[in-house]
Amino acid sequence: MEIKVFKFGGASVNSAMGVQNVAAILEKYPGNNIVMVLSAMGKTTNALEELLRHYLSVDAVSMVEVYYRLKDFHFAIVHKLFPDKNHPVFAELETEFTLLQGYLRKGHLTPGERKEYNFEYDQIVSFGEKFATIIVNHHLVYSGIKSKLFDARKMIKTDSSYRDARVEWTETSATIRTVMNSYFPKRDEKRKVAVIQGFIGSDPSGNTTTLGREGSDYSAAILAYSLKTKEVTIWKDVPGVMNADPKWFRNAKKLDLLSYREAIELAYFGASVIHPKTIKPLENANITLKVMSFLHPDSPGTSVKNLRKWSVPFPIFIRKQNQVLISLSPRDFSFILEENLSEIFNILAKHQIRVNVMQNSAISFSICVDDDPALENQCLAVLQKDYRVRYNKNLELYTIRHYHQRAINKIAKGREILLEQKTRSTVHLVLQ
Ligand code: ASP
Ligand code: MG
Repeated sequence: MEIKVFKFGGASVNSAMGVQNVAAILEKYPGNNIVMVLSAMGKTTNALEELLRHYLSVDAVSMVEVYYRLKDFHFAIVHKLFPDKNHPVFAELETEFTLLQGYLRKGHLTPGERKEYNFEYDQIVSFGEKFATIIVNHHLVYSGIKSKLFDARKMIKTDSSYRDARVEWTETSATIRTVMNSYFPKRDEKRKVAVIQGFIGSDPSGNTTTLGREGSDYSAAILAYSLKTKEVTIWKDVPGVMNADPKWFRNAKKLDLLSYREAIELAYFGASVIHPKTIKPLENANITLKVMSFLHPDSPGTSVKNLRKWSVPFPIFIRKQNQVLISLSPRDFSFILEENLSEIFNILAKHQIRVNVMQNSAISFSICVDDDPALENQCLAVLQKDYRVRYNKNLELYTIRHYHQRAINKIAKGREILLEQKTRSTVHLVLQ
């Protein structure tokens, strides 16, 4: 029986109806074993990030408020899905929330006693996927599907780069194959579903790690790669890969086909539709990535695959918000030379600041980066030792692939352009 890897994002399971819809989609594939990778429900990851901030600033009142908001949100869904209030899902979810609460109680530690931000991030933010998988797995079983919950941390083995963990491929692939091959039925049995958390893994000491925001797509790719499936499907709230995010771009159009290469470029430049790390393992194993709509599960969506000759039908627009444009000039009036650049990049890398665009002149160097708490709190202070640092916050970065002048005008009309950079196929615009 063919195994399919399905990834369902937070938007697909943000309500009881959403969870039921996901079960209904699985029913459309009765002849397949399914590995189902799940994200945290709705905006849970954002809420957990908020919780983390309150935990780190020892703001108990706000911490309690967010904790109960999250708990109420999940239990409201469970109450709608399970009429029998003695169903084990209630106790299991309660246990998981108690674990989180226990962790948060350490909030009285002084900053010196606590581990670093990224470590704390992974321990707290990873709860979202655990809540989601408990609920969805129970619902699948409840609706008559043979389903079992697997702990991603036992399969996805990573290093200890918290918040952006690197996968130990050999161990991970071998474990996935062993666990899944023994779970999935041999011929003639009823098909099964394996539910597993996206986004999370564990390091050699057994601590929980995460793969970076939106990392569940990557988890799905890791599973597909390890199981050598033919395809992996990412179910989203859009019809497929669009040439712009329909939330801010009117008349966004769907791309029916996309080459791996173009998808990598799009993801790299920040198209939120696919996680940047996702495509490479799929390309290596020639696995087709399908992006489909959980709202219209019978529509074909977009197929990303190996396409020798692929021509772009129209420009593709990518918007990144919350950008900071930083301009650096050496305090000693030296020119920006290679040593300066490598020093700057070392500092940025150390603080995990991601550079989206860079441009240099003789005496200054400009970078456009994602805003991040570590930027103003730590990174800029370090840079300020050797550089005069000026920066503008709250900017937008637009990347247009396969642009033409009309496409640029459409975006930049009436706005101040702080930086414009063109190559043959790509233009970047940093706008106020
Ligand atoms: N829940 C995580 C996030 O929102 C991972 C994911 O959804 O892919 O970033
Ligand atoms: Mg998500």
